[in-house]
Amino acid sequence: MTDQLPASSFQPPTPQFDACGERATPADAYDALLGRLRAEHVPYTILWELTHRCNLACVMCYNVSRAEPELTTAECLDVLAQLAAAGALRLTLTGGEILTRRDFFTIAGRARALGFALDLKTNGTLLTPDAAERVADLDPVQVDISLLGATVETSDAVMGGRDTLRRILRGVRLLQERGVRVKLNTLLLDLNLAECQAMLDIAQEFGVYYEQTFKISPNDDGRLKAARYQLSTSQMTGVLLADRTPFLPKPPAASRRTCQVGLASCLVSPYGVVYPCNELRIPAGRLVGERRQRFADIWADAPILRQLRSQHTFANLPDCRGCPLAAYCEGRCAGLAWKERGDPYAGHSLACRHAQARYAEQHLGMSVPETPVQAWILRARDTESHAD
Ligand code: SF4
Ligand code: SF4
Repeated sequence: MTDQLPASSFQPPTPQFDACGERATPADAYDALLGRLRAEHVPYTILWELTHRCNLACVMCYNVSRAEPELTTAECLDVLAQLAAAGALRLTLTGGEILTRRDFFTIAGRARALGFALDLKTNGTLLTPDAAERVADLDPVQVDISLLGATVETSDAVMGGRDTLRRILRGVRLLQERGVRVKLNTLLLDLNLAECQAMLDIAQEFGVYYEQTFKISPNDDGRLKAARYQLSTSQMTGVLLADRTPFLPKPPAASRRTCQVGLASCLVSPYGVVYPCNELRIPAGRLVGERRQRFADIWADAPILRQLRSQHTFANLPDCRGCPLAAYCEGRCAGLAWKERGDPYAGHSLACRHAQARYAEQHLGMSVPETPVQAWILRARDTESHAD
């Protein structure tokens, strides 16, 4: 178990992606170890969506439930053994809502018995004293909980449930009382932007880690269900201006990877499908069913993983290579590009909008350049309207 960090542990607004970060030089020994595991393609960290079932209906949820059954308890335990045998060390269990699975503590308990370091992502509303006790017994590295409003009305409107704020904060308190490290995560939407500061105040009052992000993902089937809630460029600029974290524009080197996808992490879906990550849902292989393969074989041989390992560098991104805002671009994501443009090597509009907001924040009053992606979208719209 871990102590709570002091209330100053705020991380500024970013488009946040799991397993994405890259530092030019390692910050510490752990970072250096991660670099080695990536270089050796060890599947060090696995994000596992245990279920797509959920007791809430958040407006920006990107999960799409499939008609096929989710993994059984026995299948989950087998997958755990395979992940451990392949060298995985860190496991993030997420959903849907993990606590809707009756066998959640059986699966999580086995994961700990196999020696995995465990991170949990939950909406927090189902945490009773008993459930919190059992979570504490798992001794997780961290429990991530979403905070999507600072008032009852906003939290309920975003999360599609009743009394969500009180239930979330009760869950946070129950975990804190048992010494579990909690992090609150806020996705900034136009629905909750007015409560941006108030949500930070709540996190400070509780003394937990806290992060605000911008990223609304298209659904897993590519539909843009929640795009209307995405912050505009000027709203993002306002958030960046208020944040005041120093930013240094840096033109990317041609050999730089834009993210770590495929190097030391991947996603397992509730249906036993392995994907490069939670955004890039190009199947790498299946762990169940007639065409099932061993995890270690999928990890070593899947064409999409091999391709991403060798080709995912800035030099291979045709949109981004010539982009006037590349030095300001912090959030290009192969998965979002694939969902929006059908090409993991493309640029995509959220990253472009965020880069424009960053440019505007750095060059107040100057006109903001258009990106190649935006020019392409305008041309496509033009062509469509002429064809009508
Ligand atoms: S701003 Fe857009 S086009 Fe430019 S580098 Fe980023 S994703 Fe690519
Ligand atoms: S594809 Fe996107 S979500 Fe996946 S690791 Fe890269 S930046 Fe992160």
